[in-house]
Amino acid sequence: MQRVLITGAAGFIGSHLVDKFLNEGWYVIGMDNFLTGSEDNIAHQVGNPNFKFIYYNVTNYVFLSEKVDLVLHFACPASPIDYLNYPIQTLKVDSLGTLNTLGLAKVKCARYVFASTSEIYGDPQVHPQTEDYWGNVNPIGPRSVYDEAKRFSESMTMAYQRTHGVDARIVRIFNTYGPRMRLHDGRIVPNFIYQCATNQDLTIYGDGSQTRSFCYVEDLVRGIYAVSTIDGLDGEVFNLGNTDEYSVKEFAEYIKDMLESKSEIVYKELPEDDPKMRRPDITKAKGTLGWEPEISLKEGLGRTVDYFRSKI
Ligand code: UDP
Repeated sequence: MQRVLITGAAGFIGSHLVDKFLNEGWYVIGMDNFLTGSEDNIAHQVGNPNFKFIYYNVTNYVFLSEKVDLVLHFACPASPIDYLNYPIQTLKVDSLGTLNTLGLAKVKCARYVFASTSEIYGDPQVHPQTEDYWGNVNPIGPRSVYDEAKRFSESMTMAYQRTHGVDARIVRIFNTYGPRMRLHDGRIVPNFIYQCATNQDLTIYGDGSQTRSFCYVEDLVRGIYAVSTIDGLDGEVFNLGNTDEYSVKEFAEYIKDMLESKSEIVYKELPEDDPKMRRPDITKAKGTLGWEPEISLKEGLGRTVDYFRSKI
């Protein structure tokens, strides 16, 4: 049986990866310190003989006596509100945590997948973003705790691949949504669904002309599984995300109509360094992995709304 360590296993994406790898017949070791993750996200796997959970902060030295074939480093606050609340923890998990998990992958001769982000492109000047674009990041702005830590981690991942021959890969994850996001994590999808479901003011930051592209978590996890399991991808970087781009204003109106909400749109200050546009170019993932998103916004949001309604 193949064995995978998933850090951030109790998080939004991490917990869906736990389910995916268990369903595909792997033994899964999940690690999390519940900084932004939740026990609820993995409670349904407790008692599964192929799942083990370790409560641990991966910023500290990681030791495992058992065999590990694959390490997925997915621990990290990912909502702008979260990483602004936990700036030092964010910097540590994607510096010390990346170093520790790469070190583990090296001694275990395990494959390594690093969870990077579209934020490494910063406020992009190339649109859509291709993997060979270097980005436009403010190194001292408030978002830099996330952006620069992820960039540093990418650099460290490549150094371990080049220097120690670790079979390492990088996924750059674009905006992803779905069940198990926290209702109040501050990101656009939970905010808008919560506000519309409760007929509260719908908060658009700035004038709402900034754009994002939204990928349903099940599609994303299928892409990460492909990057993790296909041979011969050492040192490769993949954008993973949906290419359907919406302005924040269009997105607000879409959710308001979908929920037949009486919410009023209100405009609030745009957060500092909020990227003006974001859409992945996924030509590489399509060609190399044979992957592309399949779940429409309507279907994905429908499932997400059902989940959030059960939490309100
Ligand atoms: N946003 C918004 N209202 C909200 C939450 C977010 O207008 O209540 C905007 C935010 O300014 C950004 C976009 O929605 O332009 C996506 O924000 P999110 O926090 O989901 O993540 P980001 O893509 O910025 O990392």
